Amino acid sequence: MKTLFHNAHFFQTENDWATGIMVEDGCITEVYKSASEITMARSNAKAEFDLKGQWVMPAFEDAHNHPGSHSRISLELDFRDQQLSWKEAAVQISERAAKTPPGEWVAIHGWNETTWPTLTQSHLDALSKEHGIIIANLSYHAGLVNQFGMSLLSAQGLDIKESSEMLGRLEEIDFERAFDSSAPNVEAYSQAMLQFYQSMIQRGIVGVQDLEVRSFRQLETYWVLDSRGEIPIPTSIFITPELFTPAEKIKEIISRQWNTVDIRGVKLVLDGAFGTMTAAVSEPYADDPSVGILRMSLDEIESAVAQAVELGLTEVAMHCIGDVACDLAAEAIATLTPRFPSIRQWRCEHFELPTLLAIQKIAGADGSVCMQPNFTWDAHNYAHRLGDDRLMRINPFRQILDAGVPLVFGSDDMPTGPLEGIHWAVFKGMSNEQKLSLSEAWTAYSRAGAQLAGYEDRGILSKGMQANMITLADDPFSLSSDDFAKLEVRETWSGGECVYSI
Ligand SMILES: [Zn+2]
Repeated sequence: MKTLFHNAHFFQTENDWATGIMVEDGCITEVYKSASEITMARSNAKAEFDLKGQWVMPAFEDAHNHPGSHSRISLELDFRDQQLSWKEAAVQISERAAKTPPGEWVAIHGWNETTWPTLTQSHLDALSKEHGIIIANLSYHAGLVNQFGMSLLSAQGLDIKESSEMLGRLEEIDFERAFDSSAPNVEAYSQAMLQFYQSMIQRGIVGVQDLEVRSFRQLETYWVLDSRGEIPIPTSIFITPELFTPAEKIKEIISRQWNTVDIRGVKLVLDGAFGTMTAAVSEPYADDPSVGILRMSLDEIESAVAQAVELGLTEVAMHCIGDVACDLAAEAIATLTPRFPSIRQWRCEHFELPTLLAIQKIAGADGSVCMQPNFTWDAHNYAHRLGDDRLMRINPFRQILDAGVPLVFGSDDMPTGPLEGIHWAVFKGMSNEQKLSLSEAWTAYSRAGAQLAGYEDRGILSKGMQANMITLADDPFSLSSDDFAKLEVRETWSGGECVYSI
């Protein structure tokens, strides 16, 4: 059925806006630039939508999010965007514990170590001695567990190492294992995941990549929803090597008839984060003699990729934040690309502090980078840790585009909200030279993400493309930083269907 969308400004380029489009079977079949064309088109259309003078932009593709692991947030305490004192947070944790059966977990998201620097295990022990309490650091690279929680973990046979500096503090892989084992059951999880998808759609996202599925519970949750036909937008999954064993189990799961979900890649974590001082850097942190950690060597990357190939996976994504980890990722792409021809996509995730050499190596080997413009807040949160020189080198978007490396944006759910990320990229970069134009930032969050995911018919509003779009009340190109910050998605259209309206 032909449907005419009219009375709106449809983005073509910054200086070129169409006045209407025709949509058939979810795709744009014509683009109209004048009132007379619209009048003629009207006689052909079976239905029409008056978009009431709104500004219509391509909908977003979030190339790095975590529906599988972060959806549990809606069931748990989320302090990430709140400016709470520890006293206020403690009240909420105690109340939650009082409503939770003894022996179960109370999980909390959003431990900001900058605002609560003195938090220790005994603070958590004071809140409950009969619940496990686990609080995840803002970056999800570390967390704190109370004594009862540590006993729950060892009762499950998990060998979890506490940091030598602080009882109950877990970092990197030990934290991840503990956090996964505190997760809700599949049924509760799947309800939470549906809610998470709705919140993405409200923010204008019509395609998502889950960059770290690392427990079978998360995979089974995806399977339950996908087999019921309830996953609302195309979702590509990257699994971590923890899921490579038992091999029979993961092979069986990958071989199932998935619908909207596509298990396509492996996610490798090469270092940590600035907040936990685990990002691998060549010069010590400004406030500490440490230089972070590398979680993998080149040999280990190679053997993980070999196993991924064995399972039929075709993409490799590497988490790298510090310059040493970015160099290692670039080296891996340059040396391993010829050895693994079945890998069709090599990507660097975050890539916050790359050297020019790393950027050039990735360009030379046809790799891609998926960055989080909202991570520029690292520069604000951890300025004292990074030091002036490194601060200015965070997120060098312009340098990456100039080198010809495909630049793709994802939110990492910190928070999920492409408009917020674009605001960072366009208005709030650390140096003027690295800021992007609005068109460039929007492309990184739409067209480039679609292409990275292998969809050539998504991410722009022209003939032959899927009618995936969002509507805005104002021309986004005309707004000041303050006004852009207030901009909200009014409607999300996916394949010509309105899937959200304000
Ligand atoms: Zn992530």
